[in-house]
Amino acid sequence: MSAATPARTLVLVKPDGVARGLVGEVISRLEAKGLRLVAVELRTLSRETAEEHYAEHREKPFFGSLVEFITGGPLVALVAEGPRAVEAFRALAGATDPVKAAPGTIRGDFALEVQNNIVHGSDSDESAAREIALFFPHLG
Ligand code: ADP
Ligand code: MG
Repeated sequence: MSAATPARTLVLVKPDGVARGLVGEVISRLEAKGLRLVAVELRTLSRETAEEHYAEHREKPFFGSLVEFITGGPLVALVAEGPRAVEAFRALAGATDPVKAAPGTIRGDFALEVQNNIVHGSDSDESAAREIALFFPHLG
């Protein structure tokens, strides 16, 4: 990525976040931070896409449950852009375990269970490129 290209990250408002009406809250927080929306879509993931998205966790004991959860209802996938977008959104999201996530973060403010933690954010520029290509091939 050249210095002139702003960084991008893939964000998911997971099915629990959509069901609880937190889509606007998540988008408000990332826009308030200064990240810019590049793409947004409501969709229900196929098992195949979910397994590809979470391929790094295939051997984990929670993988089957995670795939059921993430395919269990509509989610909102979005691409956000801005300086250090990956790091910036991970900071907004908070720690994976919402009980350990600081108050003021999305997970810290809205969740209690490690699986049902409202949002996904890419964990590196390389993951972001892979995930954006999976969800929004026209941006890849
Ligand atoms: P993050 O989403 O913070 O990058 P991970 O990549 O480690 O976290 O895990 C992916 C997702 O899998 C988490 O956001 C959460 O929904 C789920 N998850 C992680 N660890 C567990 C666990 N121990 N039990 C159940 N679900 C988990
Ligand atoms: Mg992760």
